[in-house]
Amino acid sequence: MTALLKLDNATIRFGGLVAVNGVNLDVEEGEIMALIGPNGAGKSTIFNLITGIYPPTEGGISFKGKSIAGLQPHVIAGGGIGRTFQNIRLFNELTVLENVLIGAHTRGSWNLTGALLKLLPPVRREEGRLLELAIHCLSQVDLAHKAYEQACNLPYGEQRRLEIARALAIEPALILLDEPAAGMNPQEKQTLLTMVRNIRASGVTVFLVEHDMKFVMGLSDRIAVLDYGVKIADGKPEEVRANPAVIEAYLGK
Ligand code: ADP
Ligand code: MG
Repeated sequence: MTALLKLDNATIRFGGLVAVNGVNLDVEEGEIMALIGPNGAGKSTIFNLITGIYPPTEGGISFKGKSIAGLQPHVIAGGGIGRTFQNIRLFNELTVLENVLIGAHTRGSWNLTGALLKLLPPVRREEGRLLELAIHCLSQVDLAHKAYEQACNLPYGEQRRLEIARALAIEPALILLDEPAAGMNPQEKQTLLTMVRNIRASGVTVFLVEHDMKFVMGLSDRIAVLDYGVKIADGKPEEVRANPAVIEAYLGK
């Protein structure tokens, strides 16, 4: 099996800090892969490397067998990698549906002016298909019935799901979810778990960062563990849970 996403010695330095240090990591097509580790370990930075927010200082990143290191974020998104952010990034004044349409149009570019400029002509041209796609993405996170509500009026858990719908609107092969369950209550987490499983069943590979161990262990096929920018373990949930280095760095705390 060839990896859908491959990090090969991926490294990034911010001044003197090596935030991600020589990480080798594969995400196979069709799996739910998780990345865990203490705060500041470099998890979000790995997502930022994959999505082109920062180019790696050293090492390679390939997706579907082609190098994507150093490409612009909208090019990487357009190639089929969707993402959500650790902190919610919605256009609060727009409707739920508009937030998803912007996802479909901008393919991950977060410049509002640019987004709105790009929005107008294509919406007229392809209105039917895009609306259908946006509603389909909303229904994947059970929000289609809220399409015309203002995004800021949704409860917190639904705002997080709306971000997932927006990421799905680029029709990704791979979706990166940065702490999707953060701040959710147990019931919201359970709903999210089912949705993530359904997203995978629909053919999208999932790579997520998450702190809630019960959530991660119950959902993931494989887990990689990061500590101070270094990958210290990688394996099935039961293997990772039993790994002494992981217990020392993370689980034991
Ligand atoms: P995690 O998501 O695992 O909690 P991050 O990836 O956000 O950790 O951060 C890893 C380390 O890199 C932290 O020490 C953080 O302060 C640092 N870092 C992240 N982004 C930048 C940046 N743009 N400039 C400088 N330091 C950064
Ligand atoms: Mg983070």
